[in-house]
Amino acid sequence: MKADPAVQRRLLDLAEVDAELSRVRHRRTSMPELAEITAAETAVRARRDAGVAVRTQLDDLDREAARQEKEIDAVRAREDRDRKLLQGGTIGAKQLADLEHELHSLERRQSVLEDDLLELMERREAVELDVKHAEVELAKAEHVLAEATHRRDENLADLDTVDARRTAERAKILPGLPADLLAFYERRVAQGRIGAALLRARRCGACRLELDSREISRIRETAADDVVECEECGAIMVRTAESGL
Ligand SMILES: [Zn+2]
Repeated sequence: MKADPAVQRRLLDLAEVDAELSRVRHRRTSMPELAEITAAETAVRARRDAGVAVRTQLDDLDREAARQEKEIDAVRAREDRDRKLLQGGTIGAKQLADLEHELHSLERRQSVLEDDLLELMERREAVELDVKHAEVELAKAEHVLAEATHRRDENLADLDTVDARRTAERAKILPGLPADLLAFYERRVAQGRIGAALLRARRCGACRLELDSREISRIRETAADDVVECEECGAIMVRTAESGL
């Protein structure tokens, strides 16, 4: 393959552009913000679930308290009725004894129910604190997620800018390259390898290996417009004054 040395040097510009485009692509999928977002989303879900669990507990306690209060009201109403009958004084001795007995047990029942309700309200207070705590924790987790998402979007916008600029540069370089040279280069890039690199101080810029003296003298004797490939990695080695030949 033959190409004017100046054209070969344009390949170095193309390789630099492609290296940056490849860094941009890699960064799009590997920036630390992506893992941060995944972790933050998991945390938000966990906090949300925890919030639902404690609020359900609170609702259950509220229902239980309402049921308890209704029962206390019913007991009180029956006590009032019994007291009125007793105060009426028109009942017989047997009924009087029965009423007094019932009133005593109603009073005991009321006292037990009121103690239960008090205990329930104490539990409710503790759960209410849990609900508030869960809300604070959820807000914190949501803030972490929003912050990481914001940073990811900023990074993506930066990457888009670099991508657009480098893609435009690439489009300008391509028409100056002969088809066979470009095809060779693109084939290597498509394989995920470096297409062309500078031969600098007797080292292949692609695989970084130092060439032995036999290889150096072979290259030295090669015409300037001959395209030289690295024996080790196959990349096009572009020769300049820096090549150490
Ligand atoms: Zn090489």
